[in-house]
Amino acid sequence: MEKIINDFLAQVESRNQNEPEFLQAVTEVAETVLPYIVQHDIYYGQNILLRMVEPERVVSFRVAWIDDQEKIQVNRGYRIEMNSAIGPYKGGLRFHPSVNLSVLKFLAFEQIFKNSLTTLPMGGGKGGSDFDPKGKSDTEVMRFCQSFMTELFRHIGPNRDIPAGDIGVGSREIGYLFGQYKRLKNEFTGVLTGKGVSWGGSLIRPEATGYGVVYFTENMLNHHNESIKDKTVVISGSGNVAQFAAEKCIQLGAKVLTLSDSSGYLYDAEGLNEEKLAHIMHLKNVERKRLHIYLEKYPKAAFFPNKKVWEVAGDIALPCATQNELDISDAKKLVANGCQAVGEGANMPCTPEAIAHFQSNNVLYAPGKASNAGGVAVSGLEMAQNSLRYSWTRKQVDDKLKEIMADIHTSCLHYGAGENHINYVKGANIAGFVKVADAMLAQGVV
Ligand code: NDP
Repeated sequence: MEKIINDFLAQVESRNQNEPEFLQAVTEVAETVLPYIVQHDIYYGQNILLRMVEPERVVSFRVAWIDDQEKIQVNRGYRIEMNSAIGPYKGGLRFHPSVNLSVLKFLAFEQIFKNSLTTLPMGGGKGGSDFDPKGKSDTEVMRFCQSFMTELFRHIGPNRDIPAGDIGVGSREIGYLFGQYKRLKNEFTGVLTGKGVSWGGSLIRPEATGYGVVYFTENMLNHHNESIKDKTVVISGSGNVAQFAAEKCIQLGAKVLTLSDSSGYLYDAEGLNEEKLAHIMHLKNVERKRLHIYLEKYPKAAFFPNKKVWEVAGDIALPCATQNELDISDAKKLVANGCQAVGEGANMPCTPEAIAHFQSNNVLYAPGKASNAGGVAVSGLEMAQNSLRYSWTRKQVDDKLKEIMADIHTSCLHYGAGENHINYVKGANIAGFVKVADAMLAQGVV
């Protein structure tokens, strides 16, 4: 088996050199899915995983725009249309200086499995730009988004490819992107998700990824006769996912000790409550300030510059910032401090060595493609509401989200159950794979 995996990875590597994040994501899937393929005649010999790692289409384009000093700026835009076997391409747009082909291909590849796990009809895609919205004025962000959409619009559509938000793309950016798409196409369609509620958005979409991570973590704990109530939680990030993960933890009676941004972490020993979190949301989402400003109102808290939250002892860890933010030394600290469960809010935030350390120390570990699927799941519900020209209530969407997260957990149990423990990585990868592979086989060699 080892030879089959190594040969496969060597072939992928030779075609995708200098793409470390993409190879990392493919390796994790190959290690769990190839043994399954070998044991199942319908998949064996079909080169099915080799087809899945090759994007159906990659679009790369120039995004020129004019800044407030009237200087011409040039960024690079991308859309990776990875797999459309079970539905139109679906996945977010990321605006961050670290964006490159490797990062977007890893995200698009993960998205195939995640979208399949939701049970909704969505293929996998991802896109973005190396543009950094941080420090830009609203009009600069608008001009960038308009220029970006002026090329992207010809590649997307409500039955073809439906982007959403991700790092650096929140409701403001989705608004500008949607406005430009509508102007260019002269039509009002559900071409993006994460829209404002008054113009086609779904209730609970902003909350969905963060809430979903906590629902999944609670499912995992409940299955092991535990619960999130009264647990201490360390969360990284302070963006969309982190904020709503914190909100749901607080609602379920847990004590949230930390949040972070790229300049360091905030530690509030008393725990965040709804009022403190509302203040953080205002600072980050409205004033667009850095996290340490929190201390001006709550001086009893502490801010640790250039440090990671994983040095704080907590029962539960929810990495909600970015890829590879939690490495083996962080994992060792968490385990030594008694961490019981890790639920990934971000995509691939734990390195392979960190994951192995959690698993060998019986820490419940949920991979992002399962635990953060709530965001794209509610995006799928937003698409359904747009098609119906109808809006569901907050409770209806939240109930569906809970049900989807519970179903994903059940799928992980089905494919990931071992003799003594549940391997959620294996469970999520195989469950996600089977549905897409079956569709690809039915559709012939394309
Ligand atoms: P946001 O842009 O809202 O927030 C990102 C947060 O992560 C910020 O606090 C940011 O800090 C921090 N961060 C980003 N990059 C880095 C970095 N290189 N080093 C340290 N900190 C960093 O993004 P989201 O909350 O939407 O996304 C967070 C993660 O969740 C990503 O991995 C994303 O792919 C994943 N995800 C998001 C979904 C969604 O619905 N939004 C759905 C599924 C997954 P700073 O402000 O200082 O940059």
